[in-house]
Amino acid sequence: MKAIAVLTSGGDAPGMNAGIRATVRTALTCGLSVYGVKRGYQGLIENDLVPLLSTDVSNILQHGGTILHSARSEEFRTEEGRLKAAENLEKHKIDGLVVFGGDGSFRGANDLQREHGTRVIGVPSTIDNDIWGSDFTIGFDTAVNTALEAIDKVRDTAAAHDRLFIVEVMGRHAGFIALEVGIGAGAEEILIPETVTDIPEICRKLQRRYKNGRTSSILVVAEGDEEGNAYEIAAKIEACCGMKSRVTVLGHVQRGGSPTASDRLLATKLGYAAVMALLDDAAPCMVGVENGLISRHPLADAWTRKKGLDDLVVKLSSGLE
Ligand code: ADP
Repeated sequence: MKAIAVLTSGGDAPGMNAGIRATVRTALTCGLSVYGVKRGYQGLIENDLVPLLSTDVSNILQHGGTILHSARSEEFRTEEGRLKAAENLEKHKIDGLVVFGGDGSFRGANDLQREHGTRVIGVPSTIDNDIWGSDFTIGFDTAVNTALEAIDKVRDTAAAHDRLFIVEVMGRHAGFIALEVGIGAGAEEILIPETVTDIPEICRKLQRRYKNGRTSSILVVAEGDEEGNAYEIAAKIEACCGMKSRVTVLGHVQRGGSPTASDRLLATKLGYAAVMALLDDAAPCMVGVENGLISRHPLADAWTRKKGLDDLVVKLSSGLE
C-alpha cells in the first residue's frame, strides 16, 4: 500500500477534523502518501482530490465542521457515479479509502468495495450516536454538551417565569442525545422514539409536581418522538390538561462548535485505527471503540444492526421526583 485517501460524508460532526488530522499523520508516519477528497463522494466523482501534508492538518483539531467539506451525492448512489469515483482513485493510484460518516456513507462505501474492490474503512461520525459497533460516534459528546449548555440557560428563564418549557433536540430515529442531555439537565420528562410517550401520564406527573410545590419544568424531546415534534407535543399537552408551554428547538446549533476533549480523543483513536486497518489489509470494515478497545465490524452491521439504549439511562429518564 502506497497511497490512501480520506473523505467526510453525510452530516458533519464535531471531531471530524481531529479524525482527518489523525488519519493523515498516522499515514504519513507509516510512509504512505495521503489525499484529501473535497465534498465527500461528490468530490470523488469530480476528481476533487488534493495531496495532504502534515502542515495541512495543523491547528484544525479544535474546530468543528470539516476542512474537507461534506456533501450528499445523489450521483454516487448510481453505478455510473461509483464507476467515476473508482476511476479517479485508480488515476491517483490510491489503494485505500477512509470514510468519516454515518450509515448512509457506509452503504456507499460498501457498494464501492463490492463493485470495484476498493479497500474502504468507515469511521462512525454522527452526532446521533446511532451506529452499532461503537459505544460512541464522533460528535455525539460535543452535541450533548452544546445542548446541555443551552438547556441550562432555558432552565434559568423557566424558573424565573414559572414556566413549562419543551426543548427539542436532534435525533430523528434515536433518543441518545435526548436521553443524555435530559438527564444531565435534570429534565422532568424525556421523550424519545424508542419508548412510548404517554401524554396523559406526562400531564398527571406534571400536575402532581406542581401540587408538590414545583413551579417550572423542562421536557426534553427528541425530534423523532412518535407523538410529534416539540410544537405538536406542546399542543397535545395543552389539549390534554390545559398547561401552556414555551417551545425551544435547538436545531443545527448542536452540529457545530469546538469538539469536546472526548470527541477529539475518540476521533484521534479512530483515525489511527482506520489507517492500521488498511495497513493490516483488513476486509472492508468500520472501526469503533467498544469498552475502551478498538474494534472492527463489517460495514453492513452499521445498517443491519440496531444499537440499543443503555437500560439504566432509560430507567433514570423516567424522572427522579
Ligand atoms: P450519513 O452518512 O450521515 O448517514 P447520508 O445518508 O446522507 O449521510 O449519506 C451520505 C452519502 O452516502 C449520500 O449522499 C450518498 O452519496 C451515499 N449513500 C447513502 N446511501 C447510499 C446507498 N444506499 N447506496 C450508495 N450510496 C449511498
